[in-house]
Amino acid sequence: MKKRIIVTGGAGYIGSHVVKALGERGYDVLTYDNLSTGNRWAVLHGDLVVADLSDSATLERVIRGFRPDAVMHFAASIVVPESVREPLRYYRNNTVNAIHLLEALQKFGVNTFIFSSTAAVYGIPGTMLVNENTPLHPINPYGSSKMMTEYILKDLSVALGDFRYVSLRYFNVAGADREGGIGQAYKEATHLITRALKTAKGEFQKLQIFGTDYPTPDGTCIRDYLHVDDLAEAHILALQYLLDGGRSDVFNCGYGRGYSVREVVGMARKVTGMDFSVEETARREGDPPALVADSSKIREKLGWRPQYDNLEYIVKTAWEWETAKRKT
Ligand code: UDP
Repeated sequence: MKKRIIVTGGAGYIGSHVVKALGERGYDVLTYDNLSTGNRWAVLHGDLVVADLSDSATLERVIRGFRPDAVMHFAASIVVPESVREPLRYYRNNTVNAIHLLEALQKFGVNTFIFSSTAAVYGIPGTMLVNENTPLHPINPYGSSKMMTEYILKDLSVALGDFRYVSLRYFNVAGADREGGIGQAYKEATHLITRALKTAKGEFQKLQIFGTDYPTPDGTCIRDYLHVDDLAEAHILALQYLLDGGRSDVFNCGYGRGYSVREVVGMARKVTGMDFSVEETARREGDPPALVADSSKIREKLGWRPQYDNLEYIVKTAWEWETAKRKT
C-alpha cells in the first residue's frame, strides 16, 4: 500500500521540492496550502487543497477524507525582519496554526509528524558549529515561534505515547531543482542569494550588505547554505525513519561549512558574470553573526548523504531558476 502524506505548505519553496521528491518515490501526496506565498504550479504531484490552517472545518474534512499516514508541516511565515516588525502574525501563523493542525490530527489518530524547524532557534550560539544540544535562545520572533512549536511537539510526544515526530532544523536553504521548474518564487525576495541574483538581473539597483562589523573574518555574517534538493532528501529519510517506527528526534540540516555574505556576493558575481553594485549598510535586526550546522547526527542516524555541498552549484541552480521563463 502506498503511504499517504499530507504536506502543509507544499506549494511553497521547500515544500514543493519535497512534494516532488515524495511523488518520485511513489508516495500519495496531498498539499494543503493557502497560497499566501506559494504557487499552484509548484505542486508537481497529488492534489492541492487551497485553505488556511486556521480553518479547522476544512482541515478536519481533508484529514478525514485523505487518512494520511504522516504529515509534513512546512506552512509558515519565514522572514526574520518581518517577524521583528509583526510578532503577533508570526506567533499566530507559526505557533497557533501548528496547534490547530496537531489538534485536528489528534482527532483522527494521525501520529506521525515532520516539522520544518530552523537554525534560528539557536539565536547567537557560543560556538561556530551548532549541534542539536546547543541551547535554544532565539533572538527574533521567527525563531521563537518555531521553538515554541518544537516544545509543543516534545510535550505532545511525552503525553501521547503513540505520537512521534522529527523536527528538522534548517540552516540557509537555497538553490533550485534542475528538472522541476520550481524554485524560490516569493513575491518579495529577502534572502541573500535570491536578492543578489535579482540584482544581477537588474530587478534591484544594488545589493545591500547588512552589517560589516560582525566578529567574523571579513565582518559580514556567516551562514551554512544548503541545496534544497539535499534538504528534500533529508525529509524523505526522516519520513522513512518514522514510518519504520523510529523515535521522536531533532536533526540539524546543513553542510557544516559557512560562507560570509561577501563570499556569497563574490560567487553570485562569478556565476552570473555581472559585477552588480553592492552597498554596505547597517546591520539588519535579528541577525546572528554566524550559524553553521554540526550535521553529524543526521548523517549518522538517518544516513543522509548530501549531493550538492557546493556553493557554486547552489548559486548556479538558483540563477538558472531566476532566469528561466517562469510559469505564473
Ligand atoms: N543579507 C544581506 N543582504 C540582503 C539579504 C541578506 O546582507 O539583501 C544577509 C543577512 O543580513 C544575513 C545573511 O545575508 O546575514 C543571510 O540572510 P537571509 O535573509 O538570506 O537568511 P537568514 O539567515 O536571515 O535566514
